[in-house]
Amino acid sequence: MPELPEVEVVRRGLDEHVVGRTITKVDVFHPRAIRRHVPGAIDFASRLTGRTVLASDRRGKYMWVGLDSQEALIAHLGMSGQLLVQPVGAPDETHLRVRLRFADGGPELRFVDQRTFGGLSLAELTEVDGTTLPVPVAHIARDPLDPKFDVGKVIAAIRRRHTEIKRALLDQNLVSGIGNIYADEALWRAKLHGTRPTDKLSRAKVTELLAAATQVMREALGQGGTSFDALYVNVNGQSGYFDRSLAVYGQEGLPCARCGRPIRREPFMNRSSYSCPRCQRRV
Ligand SMILES: [Zn+2]
Repeated sequence: MPELPEVEVVRRGLDEHVVGRTITKVDVFHPRAIRRHVPGAIDFASRLTGRTVLASDRRGKYMWVGLDSQEALIAHLGMSGQLLVQPVGAPDETHLRVRLRFADGGPELRFVDQRTFGGLSLAELTEVDGTTLPVPVAHIARDPLDPKFDVGKVIAAIRRRHTEIKRALLDQNLVSGIGNIYADEALWRAKLHGTRPTDKLSRAKVTELLAAATQVMREALGQGGTSFDALYVNVNGQSGYFDRSLAVYGQEGLPCARCGRPIRREPFMNRSSYSCPRCQRRV
């Protein structure tokens, strides 16, 4: 599932290719792709048609573009969603769900999604803590790459929780944008096992962990994100290559880069956690 770096790579593509353009035609090919837009496909298309894209933005794993109608077009990539910029007339992708055409006759924006867990929706904007956000995103906490991210406040909130540290890292109401991949990488860098209780961790250790999470996501962003499967691509259809730099995620049985012990995999919330048995003790 795309996490902050992957979503940010796609947002940058939207910023480059879509901002400033006026939408002239909207085709919805699969109702599931706009299921979060409750009024349906006809309403979705009519509210987008004629609108100009003013800016792009992101919080955590949510991205959107602001429109001159004071609404936002939100894109969720879900498990396998892609936003692709394609020349007019390029053959339709097998899993093409929504197509936007523009007044300048230039490249189209296509939402392609094999598993259709992702989708597009239109939403009103609201202001939260001095930042304008689409209403469905209003509850999502600031992410570590947000200039207004208040690290002291987040550290205090994590230490007040009675939970396991990995669960706290994945809680989008505490800190957003971190998913399974970057949580495991950050925990390895900070030499913490994910089941360690948050209320027993020192302030210094939580500080180190958040710094590690921020650093690993910045590095991933610099490499175009992690291609956790073949479906994650930027708007030009290219995949990232941070998977080559992963220390633990998906590395079961391979030697730890720090101590050489084989990386272990443990079940975690219907998925897996990866860690080093020596560097990351349970207690
Ligand atoms: Zn190790």
